[in-house]
Amino acid sequence: MRVISILGSTGSIGTSTLDVVRNNPEKFKVAGLACGSNLDLLVQQIQEFKPQYVSVGKEEDIAKLQAQLGKSVPEIGWGMQGNITVATLPQVDMVISAIVGAAGLEPTLSALKAKKAVGLANKETLVVAGSLMTQMAKKQQVTLFPIDSEHSAIFQCLVGQNRDELRKIIITASGGPFLNKPRDEFSSITVEQALKHPNWSMGAKITIDSATLMNKGLEVIEAKWLFDLEPEEIEVVIHPQSIIHSMIEFHDGSILAQLGIPDMRVPIAYALSFPERLPNSLPSLSLTELGSLTFFPPDYEKFDCLKLARQSLSKGGSYTAVLNAANEVAVKRFLEKKIGFSAIPYVVEATLEKHQSCEPASVDEILAIDQWARFEAERVTKHYVLN
Ligand code: NAD
Ligand code: MG
Repeated sequence: MRVISILGSTGSIGTSTLDVVRNNPEKFKVAGLACGSNLDLLVQQIQEFKPQYVSVGKEEDIAKLQAQLGKSVPEIGWGMQGNITVATLPQVDMVISAIVGAAGLEPTLSALKAKKAVGLANKETLVVAGSLMTQMAKKQQVTLFPIDSEHSAIFQCLVGQNRDELRKIIITASGGPFLNKPRDEFSSITVEQALKHPNWSMGAKITIDSATLMNKGLEVIEAKWLFDLEPEEIEVVIHPQSIIHSMIEFHDGSILAQLGIPDMRVPIAYALSFPERLPNSLPSLSLTELGSLTFFPPDYEKFDCLKLARQSLSKGGSYTAVLNAANEVAVKRFLEKKIGFSAIPYVVEATLEKHQSCEPASVDEILAIDQWARFEAERVTKHYVLN
């Protein structure tokens, strides 16, 4: 029996994780749940999974939750301290990190510090603090199991292989909803159009990141830290069908790929049960029905966010933390319909240009850079506000 906590339990990854738990009650038990919003769903989750501790977004939510739950109330915390408590409960073996954005950093790092295995969906934590996170995992001798489908694919391909024989990894990207849209039409893209991903159903922020291809840029940075790679060893290939989730190439030119229907419950279950594979009721992939799989190089001029992410990684230091914070601000303002879709990369680029890079050595230093970048990005955003 593996005891788990979920950070971000009411989100897309959180609910998919609980679905895996629901289908495997003899294997997993939930001790802690944390979320930022959606108390109604949290109430249902508490009633079904009976965690000992839960954390809500705001202090006033505690009373609301108690009122909704009636008699059987778990211990309830709130905010960052509540998230950290969920991530470090003594009985927990594994923490699923599925909060969106840099808000997941402190609880995820605390989980590693408390020697918990981590199933990592929250890629932004590695983008802002890859060095600190991987050093902590190494020091505490715990594993960061990737949940992001591409990184899970690479992790699966690497099992049993000699790491020294690896030439590069090939990360696939669907290309998002605007793959074939001319760039000069980007300024008229609406929030509703950008929220329609062709192959995956996900939270709003990652869906917008998938439309700008920033998501792929964040994944390149995530891969650097998870697999200890140089930027040149990470190739991105557009593969619109999202069937090959990623590949690895060896120094003899052989390539291994992991394929499957796009459903996050597969990589989530793999992280939860490694090295075992759990059976599920998903249909088999029909290669003959698919007929063909196609591949293209990404257009770095059309999708500047991918280029900016790669440049930030090559420059190193604190640039990727600034990239992430500026992107979080720009995406939030786009979702609020304050700025247009094509303003997102401009906000990120202008914020990066103002930054003097450094090598942050602590979480506090990273959080200070994150705050600075958010402040700057908000200032830049004012130049792009829609009338
Ligand atoms: P989502 O928006 O659906 O869910 C986010 C969850 O985090 C919600 O439960 C929300 O209440 C919670 N949350 C937000 N801020 C919080 C805070 N400060 N404290 C506590 N809880 C907070 O997002 P998602 O699509 O599930 O994505 C989560 C993470 O997983 C992101 O980093 C994303 O990039 C990554 N990811 C998602 C998918 C996917 O298919 N959805 C795939 C790969 C990676
Ligand atoms: Mg992914």
